[in-house]
Amino acid sequence: MKYVSTRGSAPALDFEEVTLAGLASDGGLYVPETWPSFSTDEIARLAGLPYAELAQKVMQPFVGDSLTPERLLELTRQAYGRFAHAGVTPLKQLDERQWVLELFHGPTLAFKDVALQLLGLLFEEFLGRRDDHLTIVGATSGDTGSAAIDAVAGRAKIDIFMLHPHGRVSDVQRRQMTTVLAPNVHNIAIDGSFDDAQAMVKRMFNDAAMTGTFGIAAVNSINWARLMAQVVYYFYAALQLGAPQRKVAFSVPTGNFGDVFAGYVAARMGLPIERLIVATNVNDILHRALSTGDYSAGTVTPTAAPSMDIQVSSNFERLLFDAGGRDGAAMAEQMRRFESSKAIQLTNAQRQSAAALFTSARADANDMAQAMRWAHEECGEVLDPHTAIALHAARAATDLTADVPVVTLATAHPAKFVDAVERATGVRPPLPSRVGDLFEREEACSRLPGNYDAVAAFVAERATPKHG
Ligand SMILES: *Cc1c(COP(=O)(O)O)cnc(C)c1O
Repeated sequence: MKYVSTRGSAPALDFEEVTLAGLASDGGLYVPETWPSFSTDEIARLAGLPYAELAQKVMQPFVGDSLTPERLLELTRQAYGRFAHAGVTPLKQLDERQWVLELFHGPTLAFKDVALQLLGLLFEEFLGRRDDHLTIVGATSGDTGSAAIDAVAGRAKIDIFMLHPHGRVSDVQRRQMTTVLAPNVHNIAIDGSFDDAQAMVKRMFNDAAMTGTFGIAAVNSINWARLMAQVVYYFYAALQLGAPQRKVAFSVPTGNFGDVFAGYVAARMGLPIERLIVATNVNDILHRALSTGDYSAGTVTPTAAPSMDIQVSSNFERLLFDAGGRDGAAMAEQMRRFESSKAIQLTNAQRQSAAALFTSARADANDMAQAMRWAHEECGEVLDPHTAIALHAARAATDLTADVPVVTLATAHPAKFVDAVERATGVRPPLPSRVGDLFEREEACSRLPGNYDAVAAFVAERATPKHG
């Protein structure tokens, strides 16, 4: 399998190379050259497989020759063996139509673990074949940071620099990052928003002075391997609900458009998905883009669902590229316009193609709290704010075909956002024992101004050059 850039001019890479890369050298994102597809019979034969085996089968076409099926299976078993639930991502029923897929049973209590536990192992596997050192640079609105740090802490040949917006992540989220005191882990709190942090990371990937010296890799969902690992649970849930004979809809709490893009990939592979509902909070650029074609960034409003407090969604470019007919030169031009004016209109082709699968909905604080209360009072389930936003969107989708089940992706454990949960429901969910003494541990974090040069200098002083 080869990977090509959405902006058309970077070299094609294989899976091993794309896993170790950040942004493509032309500023684009890598996508598979073609979508692998499964026939109805092939999908039917996946039913009932344990999660790690299903993961190997769904991912193998993307991995190609970079790993044998036996080795990939060993890695998926190791990654998902660390989850606290034997089903890895268990599916729960709320009412006749509504289901939730619990993606938060990994070590850091959010769905990011599903991809990053595997990505940490892939990095180690591929670096073991080379003489290289990797410098991971990432921006986090909270959950990517802790999941990535857990996945690579203490690994030889990897340093990780994780930027988070100072004061804009929850206490649990911050402590899950800053209490990991391994020497290869560097937490940076920057003065600014998540979008500011993400823009600095993107700039570093394009900074020849940095990429010339350091092997800079991504753990944000611009990394293809992350999205690939997330495709698996769409299959897992749909198979349990009767796919390939029955269609299923998904409602996805969306920030950077990574998780829901994985659903799009599952659909392109042949999984019968009736609809993907893109749920946003008041930071609703994606809702506006999908419902009116207006892709224009405003300023970020902090909410109780901080992992969705995003105005510029990196992975949306992957959809625009695929939906717009895979024209790299046109995509480069469209993104150049977006980067200079922060506003573009989707083309008719992009809108029509997206509308075949996606709808969207926006939930404000009140919608979110109501959905949380409904789940608690009517179904006995305590949900986190992100999940509640997607449940609101799922319940609002009243125009779906009658027998189509709707699966809301539960992206975080409610204890991770305990104050917001308590405000809405009166319940204070306890932290699971696997994160135990989080509030007793010592923290380490450097605070830097929201200024690229300061961050680049900090990384350059501490990172190891790529060739030793
Ligand atoms: C990251 C995150 C999201 C958003 O996922 P994207 O892939 O960025 O769209 C939603 N909920 C939680 C809890 C998250 O951590």
